[in-house]
Amino acid sequence: MDDAIRKTIRGIALLNASEHGGKTRNDSIISKVIGVKPELREKIKDVIPVISEVVNEVNTIPLSMQKSELETSFPELLIIKPKQDRVGLPHLNDAEQGKVITRFPPEPNGYPHIGHAKAAIIDEEYARMYGGKLIFRFDDTNPENERLEYYAAIKVGLDWLGVKYDHVKNTSDDIELIYKKAEEIIQSGDAYVCTCNKETISKNRREMVACKCSFGDLSQNMKRWKNMFEKYKPGEAIVRLRGDIHSENTAMRDPTLLRIIDESHPLHKNKYRVWPNYDFAVSIEDSVDGVTHAFRTKEYELRNELYYTILDKLKMRKPKVLEFSRLEFDGMPVSKRILKPLVQEGKVSGYDDPRLPTLEAMRRRGIVPEAIRKFVLSLSFTKSDTLAPFETLESFNRKIIDSTSIRLFLVMDPVKLIVKNNNLTEIEISNHPQKNMGKRKIQLDGSFYIAGNDAESLKVGDEIRLLELYNIKITRLGSHIEAEITDNDFKPEIPKLQWIPSQNSAKIEVLIPKVLFVNEQFNEKSLDIKQALTEPYYLELNVGTEIQFVRYGYCRKDSANQVIYTHK
Ligand code: ATP
Ligand code: MG
Repeated sequence: MDDAIRKTIRGIALLNASEHGGKTRNDSIISKVIGVKPELREKIKDVIPVISEVVNEVNTIPLSMQKSELETSFPELLIIKPKQDRVGLPHLNDAEQGKVITRFPPEPNGYPHIGHAKAAIIDEEYARMYGGKLIFRFDDTNPENERLEYYAAIKVGLDWLGVKYDHVKNTSDDIELIYKKAEEIIQSGDAYVCTCNKETISKNRREMVACKCSFGDLSQNMKRWKNMFEKYKPGEAIVRLRGDIHSENTAMRDPTLLRIIDESHPLHKNKYRVWPNYDFAVSIEDSVDGVTHAFRTKEYELRNELYYTILDKLKMRKPKVLEFSRLEFDGMPVSKRILKPLVQEGKVSGYDDPRLPTLEAMRRRGIVPEAIRKFVLSLSFTKSDTLAPFETLESFNRKIIDSTSIRLFLVMDPVKLIVKNNNLTEIEISNHPQKNMGKRKIQLDGSFYIAGNDAESLKVGDEIRLLELYNIKITRLGSHIEAEITDNDFKPEIPKLQWIPSQNSAKIEVLIPKVLFVNEQFNEKSLDIKQALTEPYYLELNVGTEIQFVRYGYCRKDSANQVIYTHK
């Protein structure tokens, strides 16, 4: 039986033992071994004696040693597997195969974040589930907040996520159509132009008092409507729905449909000054775009009545509006409104600061799109707010990147270790324990750095293994540690340490993102920066390479001398 198989069995036995108070049994291991290596089923007669041997060996090791061996030699077995890879989204009512049209309608007023990813992925998955279409529509009718930079960033974000849309458009390209609908709704008496000041309008809304402008006749309204394009200044006139000023739903108390904004629009410059607000634009656009199922976050729920009322009054086709919960992480708010000031006030370095939940930041940190999709689909599709644990996203990510991450050594708080009788001048190490990802050579001269926290616990006489090298016995402690090679036998019980050759190492910084807010306050310690040494081979890797630093964690190479900590 070859060593690789023996090693697999040992890992499984250690895991099982460590989960059962330190003892394992043959019958617990057999099916697990076949599960990972189905080809052994035919050789089961040969495998069973090996399993027995390994089980006996493992059962003689104390639990603490079993755990430490698992950590050093079989870290991949300790990854907690998320319960499900993918929970299918619930089926839609009134959905016909081939006829479902969804849309993702971001406002280009900021950088896309993982909340947008949730929305876009749900929109896309439903379109695919029913063989329908996804429309990607920039909801750009507030030139005060919108910038070309944001259109581009959102598009880049969606492409990175791998969200495929069938059609892309801008609401602002339909302004003429929206004006036509505005005229129609004024003509039919279902809307009026109000020239009251802001304070009066809010007071009347609050107190459920009809506005005096709502009694104006059609000719007054049409005249005022024309004047909105020339005479009035911003804030002097708005178009309001003749809703229900007594409604319990405040959104129905004669809400604004259009207003004047004199800011230059990123695409249309100063061509238009009358702009629809969100409710008027989104309902008309969804209807004319043929959207059948319009998803949005549940804080819009009270506005559904308004959405349907607008379309009723305009005698337009009504899509079905459906809600899902906003995605938020504990201590990491997922909202442009909160992210923007952090960037503007310089509290973070930019939209790609690894502490942020923006897609740029996720990418820089080493979270892959596939993990985000699996994560989004694993969240139950409910309206209750999801405070999802970030660890769940990490565990999906870990599972994906583990097989493609190169293994390297990294040492923090280096302490020098001299192996007196070292006789090796070079060693070749595999870049991945299972996958064929090439090898690297490391020059040796018997002088190493080991991690400060490993060095701390060493005593004279201790035996340890330098990973991939040999076993050594500590002979002297002090400003540097001295040791001698003992042998090269496999000794499960001794600590196994990573190392860096001291004459040839690369200095790097590790950026470790921490939680952004603690008790609603910005966490001044949200970015930890640690100095570390790694192997010179690091310098040959491309920026963007994902690395698993042995016994430390996954990091993504961010620049020649900087990595970002992805997760454990
Ligand atoms: P923000 O608070 O970030 O400004 P928004 O809702 O104004 O959020 P939009 O650009 O208008 O952002 O949103 C586009 C789509 O993304 C909408 O359907 C919105 O409901 C959804 N969305 C935005 N943030 C989240 C979130 N945190 N979780 C889930 N979906 C979100
Ligand atoms: Mg918005």
